[in-house]
Amino acid sequence: MGSCAVDGDTGSGHIVMLPFMAHGHLIPFLSLARTFRKYHPNLSISIAATPLNVRYLGSTMSFSESREICLKELHYCSSDHGLPPDTENTENLSLDLIGVLFGSSSSLADPLAQLLSEISAADGRKPVCIISDVIFGWSVEVARGFGIKCFSFCTGGAYGTLAYVSLWLNLPHRKTDSDKFAVPGFPEQCRFHRSQLHRFIRAANRTDHWSMFFYVQLSLSLTSDGWLCNSVEEFEPLGLKLLRNYLKLPVWPVGPLLPSSMLGHKSQSSSISRVIAAERAGKKPGLSAEKCTEWLNSHVPDSVLYISFGSQNTISASQMKAVAVGIEASGKPFIWVVRPPLGFDMKGEFRSEWLPEGFERRVMESNQGLLVRTWAPQLEILSHKSTRAFLSHCGWNSVIESLSQGVPIIGWPMVAEQAYNSKMMVEEMGVCMELARGVEDEIEADHVKRVVEIAMENVGTGEDMKRKAVEIGEKIGAAMRNDGEERGSTLKALDEFVTTILSS
Ligand code: UDP
Repeated sequence: MGSCAVDGDTGSGHIVMLPFMAHGHLIPFLSLARTFRKYHPNLSISIAATPLNVRYLGSTMSFSESREICLKELHYCSSDHGLPPDTENTENLSLDLIGVLFGSSSSLADPLAQLLSEISAADGRKPVCIISDVIFGWSVEVARGFGIKCFSFCTGGAYGTLAYVSLWLNLPHRKTDSDKFAVPGFPEQCRFHRSQLHRFIRAANRTDHWSMFFYVQLSLSLTSDGWLCNSVEEFEPLGLKLLRNYLKLPVWPVGPLLPSSMLGHKSQSSSISRVIAAERAGKKPGLSAEKCTEWLNSHVPDSVLYISFGSQNTISASQMKAVAVGIEASGKPFIWVVRPPLGFDMKGEFRSEWLPEGFERRVMESNQGLLVRTWAPQLEILSHKSTRAFLSHCGWNSVIESLSQGVPIIGWPMVAEQAYNSKMMVEEMGVCMELARGVEDEIEADHVKRVVEIAMENVGTGEDMKRKAVEIGEKIGAAMRNDGEERGSTLKALDEFVTTILSS
């Protein structure tokens, strides 16, 4: 992995990036590396990750990209940490094992220090900084020891990340019996609800391994030299203001970290699909982008509901049946990414017995629905004109991918900061309606039908959500504008960040 042409001789600088081991983190880190190379080509970029994650990243890069962005392996052996062999990513892992993976990540500190020495020897000078995942707080100490700066990159948005950080650091729900409570960093009137907390954080008391991990790592990231955020100044004005106040550090919003082909107009042809697919290859979809596009072409604009719960979540068998009955009864066309329900092997085959009898055959014959096994070409689906709404777990990548295309969201947050992303989209933006929370919620088919109908209606709430999502999509697109005088806010933030690292 050592043959890429970094330009250490241009007098600019070398940035070492360090993503957490999950697709939802690797993808935006790679996009950030691409953005640096595009707008600041004199910077040299290395992404350091464990061997299998390096292999995954490499499989998503073109030949010319692999000569511009270096991938560096950090030694990691999952079985040394009590994980199954060759386990280096959260994908398809149970929550307990994800906890073990989190805990094992600080073992990358020594390999990182060694890599920094190797890069310094090869370049004849130290890297200008590390940009590390916000949950890799340990890297701040590695950078300090090496005498370079460390910036934390949160792959999430400002509002959701602040809520997540503040909840883990302060555990405000442990100081009250009330279901509603204030969270440090947020205005007093902006109450959070106990049902928005994952059961791990609800039970956290500083002695369990989840709260010890987050307390230590996030506290360290609060001592970094500044934060980068996969967001846009005009998209999250409140979240960014609150995050800056809380951290007392500079925060540069450098999003949306999306393929440039996603930032144009919505498409009804498949030409855009090939561009996007080429940029994000590396994951084999259950159905090709061409097939999904063909199916979407058979539906009128703004008519289809896309259903997906991200790269690592699934729902329970009873929830799956309720979604199926509700969506079928709504009559709305849909594409649904199906995975084995909770309690079954996520890598296993999807079995039709998990859905109501005859469901798949009926919806296929009537052309109402398309079931995609395990992994869908999400960007192609969201950027297609026929897609009207997204039933999503509110993972941040899904949120910006959807809103950048003017597609409003039906929220079903599950873990991490997803409930706070949903809260912001409901309360601050008006682009989301919540259907359920978490995997323990009992949901009724009638409720699914009602929420889907309201959210997809072209009057009232549904129309309002759509209009606001389109307005937000325009703001997100404008942040990357680069025509002469009209330079978007994200490009300005990138310039400022680069000036900061090169002038210190
Ligand atoms: N994704 C995809 N196809 C799928 C599921 C997910 O392309 O079937 C991509 C999606 O476009 C997004 C990422 O995987 O870029 C998921 O990130 P997100 O932050 O939404 O959720 P996470 O998986 O981290 O919970």
